[in-house]
Amino acid sequence: MPRPLVALVGRPNVGKSTLFNRLAGRRLAIVEDVPGVTRDRNYADAEWDGREFSVVDTGGFEPDAGGGEPLNALVQRQAQLAVEEAAAVVLVVDGREGLTSVDQAVADLLRRSGKPLFVAVNKVDAARHEGDLPIAEFHRLGLGEVFPVSAEHARGVSELAEAVLQRLAVPRAPPPPEAAEELPEEGADAPRGPIRLAIVGRPNVGKSTFVNALLGQERFVVSDVPGTTRDAIDSAVEHKGQQFIVTDTAGIRRKSGVAQKVEAYSVLRAMRCIDESEVVACLLDAGEAGVEQDARLLGMVAEKGRALVVVVNKWDLGEQGGATQAWYRDELAKRLPFVAWAPMIFTSGRTGKGVAKVLDTAARLMEQYRARFPTHAMNELLERIQVSHPAPLVRGRRVKLYYVAQVAYAPPTFVIQCNRPESVNEHYQRYVENRFREAFGLEVPLRLVYKERQ
Ligand code: GDP
Ligand code: GDP
Repeated sequence: MPRPLVALVGRPNVGKSTLFNRLAGRRLAIVEDVPGVTRDRNYADAEWDGREFSVVDTGGFEPDAGGGEPLNALVQRQAQLAVEEAAAVVLVVDGREGLTSVDQAVADLLRRSGKPLFVAVNKVDAARHEGDLPIAEFHRLGLGEVFPVSAEHARGVSELAEAVLQRLAVPRAPPPPEAAEELPEEGADAPRGPIRLAIVGRPNVGKSTFVNALLGQERFVVSDVPGTTRDAIDSAVEHKGQQFIVTDTAGIRRKSGVAQKVEAYSVLRAMRCIDESEVVACLLDAGEAGVEQDARLLGMVAEKGRALVVVVNKWDLGEQGGATQAWYRDELAKRLPFVAWAPMIFTSGRTGKGVAKVLDTAARLMEQYRARFPTHAMNELLERIQVSHPAPLVRGRRVKLYYVAQVAYAPPTFVIQCNRPESVNEHYQRYVENRFREAFGLEVPLRLVYKERQ
């Protein structure tokens, strides 16, 4: 189930980014090793009391804007973005300054959106400040419930989060499985169905052209898929007997008129697109592959644990320029080491070359992504790993990995029972992961969780 997106809107300096960090807080630490994602971070997956959502600080997208541009226009544009993309919008205002004309103008725009709206009156650092607040004034904005909060001191933030999540009816995610009971029997197939494929990439890498080639060359384009809010964007395609539901950010852009090339839009839309998929084809431009913006998107895919096909597109130009695929493979492995496990396909949306191969590859990845791995073989592997490369010694005692069990798929997730989980260092974890990849031919993300033996 896709996570609802909650957007924070408001004037500079009211405390949006502080509130953002409060809401996103705990999750951010986990992904620090994924480059490109953590820097300038203004959108994040968050979890509140077991419920999963995404949060975006619209102010964070244009930190330098405002120079020369009227404040009102800037904030209005961010509000517009929030309204188009988010499931709910929180207008953040400064309780010390009270309402300003900019707040009011933004409220006017938000009110017309029909989205669930909330007002966070920030910098109410102590209960005694609440008495001084012109609460009635904030109510007159007509945006619904008003929450006095202190983002800095975490006051009132949980009431706000609670209200938003309740209004959006976000269910509690089931706890991560402890045992393999939720998996199909060994040897049985995991559930099959259409494959949800997202096509993402920074502006101008050729997404529209690529999707046209994809839909055009497949004879069995069924129809647009109903049932989502963005009906016209998901297309169903059949390829070699396998159904795909293709979601593409280019299509979303075509549909919406506003601010087409604004980076913030493409990032937010890509984020949602990735959320709703199992496998992502991330397009890079052969003329300029592996740049910062690519790394950001790919970091997001890795963080979300989606299967990934790295697509070096406009390969017609690459070939003309005399580049070799081997060079790209080397170079991109260096620039994007955190997705080194993903297969790479070379395509030209313009000529159609390689496009079908992306579908072949996605189908292959799905086999791995949804696979049930034999317990016996995994445990033999674990033994071999420890013979050839024993885990480190800690204070004279060897860390021992006793037993491994798969507890989930999509992505494949394994729990390794051991004696000192905290002592299994990153280096050794990577070693174990790579051996798992080799042994099972895995080109999808996988998760290895180390736990104390019970
Ligand atoms: P943004 O521009 O809306 O993202 O605002 P920031 O989150 O950067 O905060 C602007 C300033 O207000 C910073 O100096 C923060 O430390 C301060 N601030 C944010 N939240 C609070 C709060 O709850 N109480 C107080 N007293 N200051 C806050
Ligand atoms: P999007 O912004 O990612 O949807 O990119 P578009 O599909 O709109 O393409 C951006 C530009 O790149 C356009 O001028 C296209 O004609 C061009 N383009 C797209 N795909 C290819 C390709 O495979 N080869 C070449 N040479 N140009 C391409």
